[in-house]
Amino acid sequence: MDLDTIREVVVARDRADLVGLGEACAVLAGGTFLFSEPQARLERLIDITGLGWPALLETPPGLEIAATCTLAEFAGATRGRETGRAVLREDWPGTRLFAQGCRALLASHKIWRTATVGGNICLSLPAGGVLAALTALDADALIWSQDGTDRRVPLREFVVGPERNMLERGEILRSVLVPTRTLRARTAVRKIALAPFGRSGAVVMGRRDPDERTAITVTASTTRPVVLDFPAPPEASEVAAAVAAIDPALWFDDPHGAPDWRRHITGVLAREVADELRTEAGGGP
Ligand SMILES: Cc1cc2nc3c(=O)[nH]c(=O)nc-3n(C[C@H](O)[C@H](O)[C@H](O)COP(=O)(O)OP(=O)(O)OC[C@H]3O[C@@H](n4cnc5c(N)ncnc54)[C@H](O)[C@@H]3O)c2cc1C
Repeated sequence: MDLDTIREVVVARDRADLVGLGEACAVLAGGTFLFSEPQARLERLIDITGLGWPALLETPPGLEIAATCTLAEFAGATRGRETGRAVLREDWPGTRLFAQGCRALLASHKIWRTATVGGNICLSLPAGGVLAALTALDADALIWSQDGTDRRVPLREFVVGPERNMLERGEILRSVLVPTRTLRARTAVRKIALAPFGRSGAVVMGRRDPDERTAITVTASTTRPVVLDFPAPPEASEVAAAVAAIDPALWFDDPHGAPDWRRHITGVLAREVADELRTEAGGGP
């Protein structure tokens, strides 16, 4: 839709162009959310897609994914497939979660080619599928501040509630870093929605690291991602206890599922994920 309160759109070419972000000025990435409903408080947008950041970059600590990486580029970054700018490694099975995270999102092809990884994370919706996958892979967010300083925040701490996160006024998400340890992990996913093409009611993503540490990440059914950590793949009773210990105030309530149903189904899906991680042969990727 047209945003008739917008007076100016600036295409940023370098970091110095990212000035003035605040109450009336927002970052524009893919725009799939921004242009989907009125933004009465906004008068100015800064388009970050002209900054030329490489979508996917292999670095010594892992894989750096630019905030401007599109969902199509992200979902294409599975084992050994060419993504345009990077060919990801065969020994990184954790990247399977990328496409699975995108599929957990209700989106057309047009949205896949336009929406960005950073937009999905910064929107911070409970049903943020990209946010879920990268939280499940224990990624860190690199945040740029207006004063030229940077800070890193574990993605598991980044979201504090529906559409609320740790970004301070004027800050932008530059990239996320997925560590090599979790790129090498085996993963398992379960998702449920009330309707075949409905928004997710619960998404559970499990990860078993090469050293056996296991994490089960719960999203869509909770108001923010919840990560359950285990020293090794847990038994069903351990999973049930960990899900029961989730703060009752975190179960999300919206037309896509009631909190009691979400709590119940999350327990079922988390046990299935743990079973898959525990019983699959090999113990490693
Ligand atoms: C029909 C439909 C269905 C959708 N279904 C889902 C769904 O199931 N799950 C879901 O999570 N979303 C959904 N969305 C919302 C949205 O399309 C996605 O979350 C998408 O990934 C947002 O990315 P974008 O690049 O288009 O973000 P934009 O629309 O450009 O931005 C989204 C928000 O994030 C801010 N932002 C963007 N990038 C940055 C950055 N790097 N640093 C700081 N702030 C930034 C913007 O200022 C804005 O507030 C849906 C949208 C539509 C229209």
